[in-house]
Amino acid sequence: MDHFPIFLALQGRRVVIAGGGETALAKLRILRKTTARLSVITEAPDPALQDLATKGQITLITRPFGPGDALCAALVYAATDDPVEDRRVAKLARADGALVNLVDNLEDSQFITPAIVDRDPVTIAIGTEGAAPVLARAIKADLEARLAPSLGVAARVGKGFRKLAEALPMGRKRREFWAEFYFDTAPQVIEKEGESGLSPALSALLSRYLAAAPAPGRVDLVGAGPGDPELLTLKARRLLDRADVVIHDRLVPQAILELARREALIIDAGKEGFGPSMSQGDICALMVEHAAQGAHVVRLKGGDPAVFGRLDEEIAALTQAGIAWSVVPGITAASAAAAGIGQSLTKRDRNSALRLVTGHDMQGFAEQDWRGLARPGAVAAIYMGKRGARFIQGRLMMHGADPQTPVTAVENASRPDARVIATTLARLPNALAEAGGNSPVILLYGLAPRAAEAALPQLSEEFA
Ligand code: SAH
Repeated sequence: MDHFPIFLALQGRRVVIAGGGETALAKLRILRKTTARLSVITEAPDPALQDLATKGQITLITRPFGPGDALCAALVYAATDDPVEDRRVAKLARADGALVNLVDNLEDSQFITPAIVDRDPVTIAIGTEGAAPVLARAIKADLEARLAPSLGVAARVGKGFRKLAEALPMGRKRREFWAEFYFDTAPQVIEKEGESGLSPALSALLSRYLAAAPAPGRVDLVGAGPGDPELLTLKARRLLDRADVVIHDRLVPQAILELARREALIIDAGKEGFGPSMSQGDICALMVEHAAQGAHVVRLKGGDPAVFGRLDEEIAALTQAGIAWSVVPGITAASAAAAGIGQSLTKRDRNSALRLVTGHDMQGFAEQDWRGLARPGAVAAIYMGKRGARFIQGRLMMHGADPQTPVTAVENASRPDARVIATTLARLPNALAEAGGNSPVILLYGLAPRAAEAALPQLSEEFA
């Protein structure tokens, strides 16, 4: 983003337009919607400008723009229809400390004016940084058609009620009140009774909300998937969009957190490697605390919450505190990794069972049914297996596994920086050490990337 959109307070401030022709008039048309004090400086004013000056709507100064003309001005538009003159104006104005826009000269301008959809006080600014004016116009037309002209009126009346509405508890209830007003009450009232009906309708609606019992809080234990935001479920998206509080793991990337409601409280309960940075007890206490206050909490976990996600402890804490909960499944790392190497996790005549195993548990490296895993054709998705790779290799070989069994490590599955390290059981610890990195890695034991299958057992070590 080379241009950062903001809304500038212009009430009572000076805005200067240099130029007296059609271009200057066009700028004035938008600027006259603001409460700024407008000055136009030009040697040759269009009669329309004279007219506006006579009516007291602008200050007209009939001489060329000069040094000091932009002092105390918030904005200056160089709109003289002459690129050389525009640049001269811009230089002088910048020296006076004003922000300058040169009409049709994006490069030398310090700010640009967006396409505007005006439902004052609701204003929508659309900018493309000059890349696609056609797109900006199309978006504007679309929004103009979609937003009722009465929206601005409703917003203005609503603004006057904001203080009163604070009697409603902050969060969901207040949000629902405003949503009902803007999307149901206001359009109906304006159509039937006109603007004057809005205030009484708003009072009545507020009384109804104040009388209703407070909505109880809840916790949804939601799978965020392996990292690609497009692999979120629709349900996860919807819940994120409504959550008051989001408590997330380290595995959840920023791109997914950005889908949370802007006002949501986002809490990072990230766990680092072996040692938790926030204890499981603290996380449970946090969920309970927020939900008990009526908040809608989303407990967002990487992958599927039911796979190595300590789901049971969290459900137990919620049940004990009498808080309503639900589980929303997500795509687990094993599925994303298999997709990444074009393989199936189960296959007729190869493996009719798939094991999800962990490389380490609370006690250290985890013991498994090594004998079963060592059988030809066995497939396992090994979570948290990187550190224990040598231990896993040792145990499997001890139980008779073929050293040439393919193992594929997938790092950052489904993310833009995903890496695939295809190796064999014999080379596993070395291949992982050579690959380095400290992002999440899942080991697909018994699976090689589809492209490399033909080359077994002389696998290439790295696939991008
Ligand atoms: N509930 C999660 C697993 C949590 S355990 C799920 O269903 O996926 C954490 C381990 O999951 C990591 O150590 C790693 O082995 C694996 N993992 C999670 N996301 C991953 C990803 N995008 N790529 C590779 N491995 C991942």
